[in-house]
Amino acid sequence: MPWCDECARFFNPTSMGRGGECPTCGRVIGKVEKAPWHFKMLAGAAGLYLLWRAVQGVVWVAHRLG
Ligand SMILES: [Zn+2]
Repeated sequence: MPWCDECARFFNPTSMGRGGECPTCGRVIGKVEKAPWHFKMLAGAAGLYLLWRAVQGVVWVAHRLG
């Protein structure tokens, strides 16, 4: 649980600001959990792969029909 030295009290992680700052004095007291960059990159790569497979599928169908 994040602790603020300025205010001498604990805070609920959900009551912190977007940057993990204290809602009372604005000091950064904790980290806000975010999806790590490599997770986003992995999701992007998976999306690109699926897109590529979809393109291949369309090309395959076009060849079969042509
Ligand atoms: Zn504070």
